[in-house]
Amino acid sequence: MNTFDLAIIGGTVVHSTGRSQVNIGVEDGRIAYVGPHSFNARETIDATGLIVLPGGVDTHVHLMDPSATDREDFPAGTRAAAGAGVTTIIEHTHSGPIRSGQGLLEKVEYLKGRSNVDFGLAAHAWTGESNAVRSLWEAGVAYFKVFTCTTHGVPGHNAGALLAHLKATSDIGARSLIHCEDESIAGDAQLALIEAGRLDGGVLPEWRSRDAEVSAAAVAALLVRRTQAKATIAHVSHPEVAGYVLRERQAGGDLAAECCPQYFVLREEEANTQGALRKFTPPARARHDSDETDMWRLLREGTLTHISSDHAPSTLEQKAAGDIWHSQFGLPGLDTTMPTLVDAVFRGHLAWEDIARVYGETPARLYGFWGKKGAIRVGFDADFAIFDPAAAWVLENASIQSKASWSPYSGKTFHGKLSRTILRGITIADGDQVMDSRTGKWLPGAGASNTPQ
Ligand SMILES: [Zn+2]
Repeated sequence: MNTFDLAIIGGTVVHSTGRSQVNIGVEDGRIAYVGPHSFNARETIDATGLIVLPGGVDTHVHLMDPSATDREDFPAGTRAAAGAGVTTIIEHTHSGPIRSGQGLLEKVEYLKGRSNVDFGLAAHAWTGESNAVRSLWEAGVAYFKVFTCTTHGVPGHNAGALLAHLKATSDIGARSLIHCEDESIAGDAQLALIEAGRLDGGVLPEWRSRDAEVSAAAVAALLVRRTQAKATIAHVSHPEVAGYVLRERQAGGDLAAECCPQYFVLREEEANTQGALRKFTPPARARHDSDETDMWRLLREGTLTHISSDHAPSTLEQKAAGDIWHSQFGLPGLDTTMPTLVDAVFRGHLAWEDIARVYGETPARLYGFWGKKGAIRVGFDADFAIFDPAAAWVLENASIQSKASWSPYSGKTFHGKLSRTILRGITIADGDQVMDSRTGKWLPGAGASNTPQ
């Protein structure tokens, strides 16, 4: 065999379907060999005793760049990704939405030299603008973000507007990521709570209720199936929502169900004491240990298809500004999503193979990056997250790379510690040290008619 640029030897290499102790050879940023043989390489990483996962693929990320960079930006947000073993993200920013092909190309240009990991960019579906869908898709957006309720300044799609959007995407095979909360149900609840003078954190689950999420998700899933569109139901917060998505999938709909760590490990009641620090929507729904166990089971079984962070950070000061109605929505999540999945292996909820599937293969396949991203296979990009399964660590705010500088999980012990993150053959995080390498590249979406930059 020829001499490779990089060898990763002796590690336990994880695929979605199994794992084995094999060597990996990397040439020109791509995986050139996976197997039992020894070979020469210019650099060798001894991964004996370590777990080698495909680099994480996080397809729901908000980095606020450009626009709200006091909350987050691409350099800091992608350091958070690198420091957690995530090598690919799909980003969209509500306060700086992409609504045209030109807008996409301007953002790609602006982001040159600002990203530490490879990234796709999503567009925002805008009511009354479904005729823009084709040119956005051909320009290379990764998906269309759709709101069913007016949120973060983005207009909500009622059933009629959603139907028009889905028909437009169905014609060209584009995927949508649909945020599901019924506008009228959440709006009526908000009016009643404000009239009652409520300012406590406990308003969150009453305002952003299970009824609002379930009814919007059921209607969206139905329309996706009827239009033969492709869609992902965003941040499915509890098993009842997953059930409606599954029903339409089994009836023939091309429907994925995304979930995020906050719907497994945070509890609904925390809103009462934590207020704005638990203001994200839909809010946490789990009430008992058994609710968490049910969610992990649905993820293992594939009813919940994949994991994302829904990273949408604010600093503690920004979270404290204004009352519960006016404080920022969202949680920092890129720093902690992969660690939460790895810890779940030690808690008996997941196998290593599940991580390769739900935070690698499945999101890569859904959004058109399969063949490059999401698995350790010859020809794929040499993206790896290498973990030491024997190490445990305690998360502190000081170790958060995001501009948020805090986490709802601070103080918690995580089992399994990141040893190294590698993007296209280059180390971008080594232990606790995160490089600011800025070598991340834009990944055009599946509909792109141009060649990659
Ligand atoms: Zn989001």
